Amino acid sequence: MYIPSATRYNQMQYRRCGASGINLPAVSLGLWHNFGYVDDFENSRKILHAAFDAGITHFDLANNYGPPYGSAEENFGKIFKQDFVSYRDELFISTKAGYDMWPGPYGNWGSKKYLIASIDQSLKRMGIDYVDLFYHHRPDPNTPLDETMDALAYIIKQGKALYAGISNYDDLQTAQAESILNRLGVHCLINQVKFSMLVRWPEEKLLAKTKNLGVGIIAFSPLAQGLLTDRYLNGIPFDSRAAKKHGYLKKEQITADVLNIITALNKVAVKRGQKLAQMALSWLLRKDNITSVLIGASSVDQLKDNLKAIENITFSQQEDDEIERIIKTIK
Ligand code: NDP
Repeated sequence: MYIPSATRYNQMQYRRCGASGINLPAVSLGLWHNFGYVDDFENSRKILHAAFDAGITHFDLANNYGPPYGSAEENFGKIFKQDFVSYRDELFISTKAGYDMWPGPYGNWGSKKYLIASIDQSLKRMGIDYVDLFYHHRPDPNTPLDETMDALAYIIKQGKALYAGISNYDDLQTAQAESILNRLGVHCLINQVKFSMLVRWPEEKLLAKTKNLGVGIIAFSPLAQGLLTDRYLNGIPFDSRAAKKHGYLKKEQITADVLNIITALNKVAVKRGQKLAQMALSWLLRKDNITSVLIGASSVDQLKDNLKAIENITFSQQEDDEIERIIKTIK
């Protein structure tokens, strides 16, 4: 039987999510990889326990996480039932719809038909009555944004989600989404975007725009799927994401240029007394309007390593300059 640590709220920092009543942990846990039927169930369970024990209250899912699609939600549902039912009110659970989920014209993108069916399926798979946050997973160029936002507002009015979110929306799309939701009496809580030392587009306009709108930002793949760690410094380990058939990180992405950059960044991290993974997270966490970094982990040790990022989120001018110089060599 799992009994959470009594000191679980002692170390974590919580940050207000935009202009809302919600505080999210500085580090949140995503279940995209490592929680499907292809993965070791007991390992997944241990990672969730370690996360909650360390004050990670926010777990992020999507309808199609696995593989196979839906299996991360089903596994989460099993673990929730075994271990977390009594702690439901201490958890902030999110899920999403917007990518390919089931065959035919109604299992993808942003129609009201898809989103409403998908939230019902997700709740059933997880065995819960509501999620805290439901996202539209990506902008849909062919569905009117009014329809997609209407679906989010409807889901909230039905009580199936408490908050609405968007993911992969740029600054203009975010402003439009927030304005439509406002008209429907709903606030856009957060935008979930890919953001790391290697993917920097949100810095240009999105951070300022969301701050202005009171929308939070959660950075996904903050470790660039493991590239911004020591995982690939000496080759491709057999159990790494890049080595797995179903992993979204492909071996071809680990180019000589990428290796040069991560080797150089690793040296800066060591000088700071951090691991590269910790420095990559600290680098995001010290930015204005970053509510949380949304990490993945394939082991409890990785998770624990990453949590130490919170201990040092200040950078000297010299470190900043050095990091900029290294990152700018990305072609
Ligand atoms: P990360 O960039 O944090 O990558 C996680 C991977 O990095 C781990 O699985 C592990 O890889 C490796 N890793 C993590 N910590 C360490 C460490 N300390 N030392 C060495 N290696 C480490 O995030 P993800 O790409 O997993 O994405 C996180 C979450 O973001 C997802 O679960 C999902 O919730 C969300 N997401 C959202 C998307 C969207 O469109 N909204 C798209 C993608 C993700 P290994 O398996 O090799 O050990």
